[in-house]
Amino acid sequence: MPTITVLDQETINQIAAGEVIDRPSSVVKELLENAIDAGATAVTVEIRDGGISLIRVTDNGCGIEKKQIPTAFLRHATSKIKSAVDLLTVSSLGFRGEALSSIAAVSQVELITKTAAELTGARYQIHGGEELSMEEIGAPEGTTFLVRNLFYNTPARKKFLKTPQTEGAYIGNLMERMALSRPDISIRFIQNNQNRLHTSGNHNLKDLIYMIFGREIAGNLLPIEVEKEHVRIHGFLGKPVISRGNRTYENYFINGRYIKSNLINKAIEDGYHSFMMQHKYPFVVLHLEIEPEFLDVNVHPSKMELRFRNQEEIYELLSNAIRETLSGRELIRKVTLDA
Ligand code: ADP
Ligand code: MG
Repeated sequence: MPTITVLDQETINQIAAGEVIDRPSSVVKELLENAIDAGATAVTVEIRDGGISLIRVTDNGCGIEKKQIPTAFLRHATSKIKSAVDLLTVSSLGFRGEALSSIAAVSQVELITKTAAELTGARYQIHGGEELSMEEIGAPEGTTFLVRNLFYNTPARKKFLKTPQTEGAYIGNLMERMALSRPDISIRFIQNNQNRLHTSGNHNLKDLIYMIFGREIAGNLLPIEVEKEHVRIHGFLGKPVISRGNRTYENYFINGRYIKSNLINKAIEDGYHSFMMQHKYPFVVLHLEIEPEFLDVNVHPSKMELRFRNQEEIYELLSNAIRETLSGRELIRKVTLDA
């Protein structure tokens, strides 16, 4: 008979880590989300070898109190919710308390952090989930995470990584999406010592679109803005002339979170329907602000999916607003009102 035993903590952590951290880009995503949740107005991400040998994320957010650092690396440790009811109103990007423990379980992490209230900062090292050191040091306010040698202790996982070029490209795409998600934050991306992206944080979404997608796209945009009850939508619609053969140019964010949603895809398709050839997809950058009570963000560990309580409301508002914007009806109405 096989014996049944409970796995040791290290094994449990490695298995759990696999759900959250599957490649360098997921480390970057989690660390960036933490920086944003910490109220940072500037974040720098630096990678080497596609993030496999080094990921460094520096923010000017609130920092972590010295005595809280070891706790932050425990599984299910979070400052963002206290109990399940808070999930109903959560507005932070993180809330599961799994990222730091997962990252630390499969890499070599160094953390330097300082809060406004403390006189000195701290440097903390944790490798493969094992605490190595904690010391007091001088540091600027904010937090820096260094993540080295991802999957060094899980060779099976490491084997599934693609080339540094490909992993780096995933991170590049992620950085662009994160930049589009927060025009109010200055985001900088350095890859192998080269500056790849540096946004100003000046709140201007159109500037960002120009920087990321270039002149042709930025020159063919229509602004969109509507609001109704619990939902506000704003951003830019690409004119049908810049449509593409696939969905990769449909960027939308719900309360600052990049997600994938069939509902939103369909509403976009519906709105563009009579303006576009078949099998073409539009360029859009849309921000939807929805009251948190109408969302369930706790659907999947990656938080890339969510559920809407007011599906029809969102669908109608978005598809109608797209139709109106594309047909220029709003423009016409404004002109006649002004006359
Ligand atoms: P979650 O983001 O779901 O709360 P994490 O494991 O990502 O869980 O982080 C654990 C906790 O560590 C966070 O709740 C937060 O209090 C703290 N933390 C992590 N990163 C930062 C950061 N860059 N600045 C300030 N606090 C941080
Ligand atoms: Mg987090």
